Amino acid sequence: MKNPLTEKHPLIEQMADSRAVFWRNDHYSAFQPNPSGALLKKEDIMEADRRLRRFAPFIEAAFPETEAQSGIIESPLVQADDMKEYLGTRYGVAIDGTLHIKSDDSLTVSGSVKARGGIYEVLKYAEDLALEHGMIDSDDDYGQFDTEKFRHFFSDYTIICGSTGNLGLSIGIIGAALGFKVVIHMSSDAKQWKKDMLGRNGVMVVEHEDDYSKAVEKGREEALADDKSYFVDDEDSEPLFLGYAVAALRLERQLEKKGIRVDASHPLYVYLPCGVGSAPGGISFGLKHVFGDAVHPVFAEPVHSPCMLLGLMTGMHDGVSVRDIGLDNRTVADGLAVGRPSKFAGKLLADDIHSLYTVQDDEMYTLLAACYDREHMKIEPSAAAGLPGPAILHRNIDRSEIRSATHIIWSTGGSMVPDEEWQEDYRKGKG
Ligand SMILES: *Cc1c(COP(=O)(O)O)cnc(C)c1O
Repeated sequence: MKNPLTEKHPLIEQMADSRAVFWRNDHYSAFQPNPSGALLKKEDIMEADRRLRRFAPFIEAAFPETEAQSGIIESPLVQADDMKEYLGTRYGVAIDGTLHIKSDDSLTVSGSVKARGGIYEVLKYAEDLALEHGMIDSDDDYGQFDTEKFRHFFSDYTIICGSTGNLGLSIGIIGAALGFKVVIHMSSDAKQWKKDMLGRNGVMVVEHEDDYSKAVEKGREEALADDKSYFVDDEDSEPLFLGYAVAALRLERQLEKKGIRVDASHPLYVYLPCGVGSAPGGISFGLKHVFGDAVHPVFAEPVHSPCMLLGLMTGMHDGVSVRDIGLDNRTVADGLAVGRPSKFAGKLLADDIHSLYTVQDDEMYTLLAACYDREHMKIEPSAAAGLPGPAILHRNIDRSEIRSATHIIWSTGGSMVPDEEWQEDYRKGKG
């Protein structure tokens, strides 16, 4: 029987067949910075940035690897000429403009894009508690958070979250460093090494046979039942989203330093791997506030888990799941294995996402291997989803729109992957 959604949206037929697709968002339009009743504003991003600066002395003390950056967790922006050449050859298109990789795979502390939103939300919770209980003033030295006094205080509280893996790692590591108890609900397809690493950090891992949405639901229920528990809600969290958005302010400075112009005649295309939509959504939201209509966010999803594409295209957002079109939500890109999108990211950005495309699992392996061969970067499969973006765009939209563009591929994770695991992915990519 034909799915009724397919009548209205013929592309769904190909999606249901697990074929790779491209969809240009027909609602894409001029950015409205602060529409009336706006949920979040630029000032909220600025405030998140200030909070991260207040916590920099704590981060620096608790994670010595962040010393070189004075406790600010940030990744390099790397020009990737070899990768650009490789992509051009592989996909048979000449890519205009320059190609850069935003290397969140090498973020300190937790090795993925989740070190932005996840860590930020836990810091905010810790600050709220400390202020509320008179432990600190907001103009004090936050290095104090790295003391037994604070850890003892926080040990009364529990942080809970549902995670496909990397969010759990990020929350688990920062939560444990502050002294919180941490419980992570994980879907059964989460990678074993991520569960093991959390266990070694003293984090309790609860596994669920069902998929991601169920793991989140369980975590939410558990947290609601206890007033000393805090739930990091990947499907519906403003702090998480704002933590990601701060990336845009940092990227603005990196581009300035490199002398890269971004304006109407020098557009910026950013390719973002998308799971529930919080990380790519937050980053896009920040970028739109910084660069307005000169930036064009493009989201990438696995062919088996195109939840944001389905939600945006149908306008049903979190009211539809990839299972409704017969997909199984099973993919090697564990960070993107999400069947139902965020409750708010897609709604908030419905007119601000330029386009979406999907990628086959095999292709992610191949690109993961190429990323090492060409750029010596060790990324995880999810992070490879952004790589074909510039080539896919060149194939699908008028070249005149992309002329003199800067392309930034957001490489979202990798440095925590145990080497054996990564070697295996690499071999699959070469095979
Ligand atoms: C979580 C994750 C993403 C996507 O973030 P969402 O907020 O789920 O959309 C992308 N890449 C990696 C490696 C991730 O862990």
